[in-house]
Amino acid sequence: MDYAASTPVDQAVLDIMKSAWQAAGNASSVQNLHGAQAKKKVEDAREKVAYSIGAKPEEIFFTSGATEANNIALLGISQYLKKSGKTHIVSSKTEHACVLGPLEKLKTQGFDMSYSELLPCGMADGPLVLKEITEKTGFVSLQAVNNETGVINPLFEVAEGISGKEILFHSDVTQALGKIPFNVKECGLHMASLSAHKVYGPQGVGALYIREDVQGYISPLLFGGGQEGQIRSGTLPVALIAGFGEACRLAVEEQAVEREKLECYNTLLRNLLDEAGIDYKINGHDYGADSRNWRVPGIMNIHFSGIENEWLLEAIDTVSFSTGSACSAQGDQLSHVLKAMGLDREGASQSVRISFGRFQQKMKSGRSRNLS
Ligand code: PMP
Repeated sequence: MDYAASTPVDQAVLDIMKSAWQAAGNASSVQNLHGAQAKKKVEDAREKVAYSIGAKPEEIFFTSGATEANNIALLGISQYLKKSGKTHIVSSKTEHACVLGPLEKLKTQGFDMSYSELLPCGMADGPLVLKEITEKTGFVSLQAVNNETGVINPLFEVAEGISGKEILFHSDVTQALGKIPFNVKECGLHMASLSAHKVYGPQGVGALYIREDVQGYISPLLFGGGQEGQIRSGTLPVALIAGFGEACRLAVEEQAVEREKLECYNTLLRNLLDEAGIDYKINGHDYGADSRNWRVPGIMNIHFSGIENEWLLEAIDTVSFSTGSACSAQGDQLSHVLKAMGLDREGASQSVRISFGRFQQKMKSGRSRNLS
């Protein structure tokens, strides 16, 4: 139950990757047959990735994952922003560490940041984000779905509010792909970051969508063979990319059915907790008739009153779940997301993230200690 951290590779994805790994060929060596075949696999995948988010294939740039995509989006655009005198960036405190990290770096290079206030449910609020915009704002970065709470942000509202203002709009859509219907054009995005291993694809590959008219503004972070339109040099990992493409195709195909299934798991877990008389509270959007539209069902952040999350993790060793994002969990710090939502130390240290997915197994009674 830790699908938000990483997902198992789908069998169809694995099959495609296996044959790609067994074929020789460098996608840049198009003058020979094997290279041309490798290039074809990459371009087929580019089409599938593009289709899954409503982009054009030529707007997709493969990277090593969403971390790199976010770094290119933020650091790669910074020279352009500086030259245009637009050195103010608006974001949110609940962003993933790989957005917050580059933002901190940009602060040391003369940029000013504003982190928009959140609603108590953990959602960014359109008007509150727009309130932070100044004459100097050149960039807004707001994730589509939070990886710790599953809360969905109102990208449309923000896009509408900044349209016509010469502000670039980026979103980390890593946790939205395959979970909600999503289209970069409808959301008014100039850039969007993606990762394969959250959608039953392999670890180590992702992509950055860059709208056609913005591509010229990006300075590369890596220099070398000039692959991916000079934006991301390095030999393309053909098998990983082919797998990512297939994972995106499946994500589109399965999305509606999968969402229903995950809603069932979400309800099932709540019912089990209610029946057992366990004292718990969901952190993040979870109320009101429209709550289904503002959270993904596969990610639940649950506060178990009086129980330290570290203890729970140790006690239940037959099920994988986590104390928060895999990245913040590494530093053994309290979740920056829960803190930004106003939880105190105690609340955050008594909360766990449970996330469901495609190959969810029914829990069997196992070796876990009696928790009552
Ligand atoms: N953004 C979000 C919202 C994520 O959940 C993750 C993965 N934890 C990342 C970025 C980083 O992705 P990757 O592992 O592909 O670098």
